[in-house]
Amino acid sequence: MSETGASRDAGADLGEGDGFPSAYRDAWEPGAGAETAGATAAEAAEDSDRDLPHVVAWNLTARCNLECPHCYISAGSWRSDGDDLSTEECRRITDQVLDVNPAPLFVLSGGEPLVRDDLEEIAAYASGQGATVVVGTNGTLLTRDRIASLKDAGVRGVAISVDSLDPDYHDRFRRGAGALEQTLAAVERLREGRLDFVVQTTLTRANREEVPELVAWAAEKGAVCFNLYFLVGTGRGEGMASDGRLTGLSPEQNEEVLAELAELQREYRGRLMIRSKCQPQLMRHVHERDPDSPLLNYRTRCPCGVQYCRITPEGKVTPCPYMPEVAGDLREASFGEVWRGSELFRRLREESLGGKCGRCAYRELCGGCRARAHAETGDPMGPDESCAYEPDGREEAIQPPREITYGESADREMPWTEDAEERLERVPSFVRGVVANRLEDYARRKGESRVTAELMTRVRKEMPIDFSERMPFFARGGEGDGDE
Ligand code: SF4
Ligand code: SF4
Ligand code: SF4
Repeated sequence: MSETGASRDAGADLGEGDGFPSAYRDAWEPGAGAETAGATAAEAAEDSDRDLPHVVAWNLTARCNLECPHCYISAGSWRSDGDDLSTEECRRITDQVLDVNPAPLFVLSGGEPLVRDDLEEIAAYASGQGATVVVGTNGTLLTRDRIASLKDAGVRGVAISVDSLDPDYHDRFRRGAGALEQTLAAVERLREGRLDFVVQTTLTRANREEVPELVAWAAEKGAVCFNLYFLVGTGRGEGMASDGRLTGLSPEQNEEVLAELAELQREYRGRLMIRSKCQPQLMRHVHERDPDSPLLNYRTRCPCGVQYCRITPEGKVTPCPYMPEVAGDLREASFGEVWRGSELFRRLREESLGGKCGRCAYRELCGGCRARAHAETGDPMGPDESCAYEPDGREEAIQPPREITYGESADREMPWTEDAEERLERVPSFVRGVVANRLEDYARRKGESRVTAELMTRVRKEMPIDFSERMPFFARGGEGDGDE
């Protein structure tokens, strides 16, 4: 997902609890891990698990066949590809990201990434080097051939935008006649092609009442996750969030929707993951309503600049697709130099939050959306005023019971049989270490002395999630392709 602030099918923000990574988190319900803000940039550079770019959202182009009014990257068909990174530059940058983290998750988006003829070439190169690759798309160009070529290129999943099941609304919002029909047909082709998909919906006043129906539809279609996006006023969406025009909801209305979403995530647990995007305040609601939720075991605070960043079509690095503030230019410096040396990233990793977010008990579970704080106050460390909660400033910060770190090394503390090792190798590398820990924890609890393929099968059957139609890619590795 890319656009500054507003919409994201284009690849948007799979950062905070979003889509694929959090799908993994719930599926395996891991333990242990930890990254906390407060390290210096130098320390971060030396630390293999903390402050690493675990998720990189990459806007490969600003071109798009649609023209949504809220688009954070102001995409459209008139946009030129003249300054887009070339295929060769994309390869070079991929190598540089993998030098910093050999197992990142790349979210390739746009604009509409399918307008790039070399999308598969870029995806194949990244996946061949060890990255996990997913694609964010509006879905209208997702033909059977494209689905097959994406799969061949190692793409593990697709995020697709559906704003309403009412074509009048969706097509008007996306400014494309027939867009919903094309996107729904693409969902059917993804099912047939057995490529995992996430449904993304941008929340507006007009579709607010439709959210439960969209969730039910996504579950019925076999989506891995449903992400509800709350508008950030950036890109073409600038001004739309704060003045309530077209899409904006008041903080009180946000509260109502988040409360409803927290209930839905409880209701659908085990069938469909449900998340808010650009609104980490969902974690406050989950903590209040469902304190035993496995969601709270994981790092839930906004990860931008700490574990997450975005690359623009021209090679600029920003903390998040919704924050246009540039940390560095990959045509002038390497990714590692930007990641480790950027003053903006240093601030996001080291400085305390300002305003009410800084004195809020939920600052570690939520922390507010940094992109929204930047859009509304000019300071990425400022308060997120889209939140209606008023902290009293006297409370200790609530900590997640346990935190998980993506990309940690798969160190073994127990013996593993050869077939178990082989299965682990088929788990995406960015979560392999966590999966290994989870399996060893399980073996210890059951009094087993080693990890076997049979034990892995048992863990999978006992997982707190049961996708009725298939297992998502992150859970399938340990079982080979048996679910295909
Ligand atoms: S479909 Fe195109 S115009 Fe609409 S939000 Fe996505 S990238 Fe932007
Ligand atoms: S800045 Fe906002 S949209 Fe970006 S990762 Fe953080 S919470 Fe998500
Ligand atoms: S005040 Fe800030 S940290 Fe607290 S719940 Fe609201 S957005 Fe989150």
